[in-house]
Amino acid sequence: MKVGIVGAGMVGSSAGYALVLMDIASEIVLVDMNEALAIAQAEDISHAVPFVSATVVRAGHYDDLAGCGVVILAAGVSQKPGETRLELLSRNAAVFRDVVGQVLRFAPDAILLVASNPVDIMTQVATRLSGLPPHKVIGSGTILDTARFRSLLGRHLEISPQSVHAYVLGEHGDSEVLGWSNARAGSVSLTSFAEQVGRPITEQVRAHIDDGVRNAAYKIINGKGSTYYGIGAGLARIVRAIAHDQRDVLSVSIVTARVEDVEDVALSVPRVVGAEGVLADLFPDLDTGEHAALQRSAAILKERAESIKF
Ligand code: ADP
Repeated sequence: MKVGIVGAGMVGSSAGYALVLMDIASEIVLVDMNEALAIAQAEDISHAVPFVSATVVRAGHYDDLAGCGVVILAAGVSQKPGETRLELLSRNAAVFRDVVGQVLRFAPDAILLVASNPVDIMTQVATRLSGLPPHKVIGSGTILDTARFRSLLGRHLEISPQSVHAYVLGEHGDSEVLGWSNARAGSVSLTSFAEQVGRPITEQVRAHIDDGVRNAAYKIINGKGSTYYGIGAGLARIVRAIAHDQRDVLSVSIVTARVEDVEDVALSVPRVVGAEGVLADLFPDLDTGEHAALQRSAAILKERAESIKF
């Protein structure tokens, strides 16, 4: 599959690099308003190709996106230390006004994969601007938060993160909801697994993992300015599900008709992802507190999405 990436900064280029290493795309085209950057990133990434795959990696303009099955939207400005994702909103919404129209002009059949933050709102913006059906405008959402949750749970239980089945729901951001009550390891409930292996999930452990998931981005940004490797791999993972029609269950964000009592809001729940985009939404069994937290997250996102003009 031919994959376009608009925004060849840290996130866009990391996604391109991950796509090459995972051998997912036949061709990758990088587009950026900073042409020299797109050319340099494409050149650098293409030098990884001989070690792993045969992907053609090049820089281009919007017309070079013709024929793309997926276009990753990673254009925008990155989060600065101390800046919330929402403070990025107005600047990035303006960027999308320009980018989405250009992409659709040359790649009208592409699935849009939104990476720019705040990703849920940008997904809502891209859906509205594009006029595409919601299942074809997918935000990376909580795919990374879910990966962090599984990683920390796996570390605590001393098993691989792939053997942990747990999702982060709602906003990719402060109001996100860690789905503790339905988390499983293997086919065993988390609590039972933890007891069986002698690694109980105490209040302290739970608070530590919650903090690790919720504040991971802030900690990384304080140390190195921005986050990109994790999300780059997460974006490549979503592209793989689409390119190979894998029908993977992934926590991604799309505009959803109804979540709790909130209508038409973009946020993450586990969804089946395949060649046509999102094929089904899954609403996990939640306890009362998690239901309330998801309702709150949905209401916050809905209000923010409605508050911006574009
Ligand atoms: P991140 O860490 O989110 O990747 P960067 O600042 O590294 O942030 O990358 C964002 C990229 O988006 C930059 O290379 C910037 O030139 C690009 N960009 C910003 N606005 C536009 C636009 N209107 N069209 C194309 N690219 C854009």
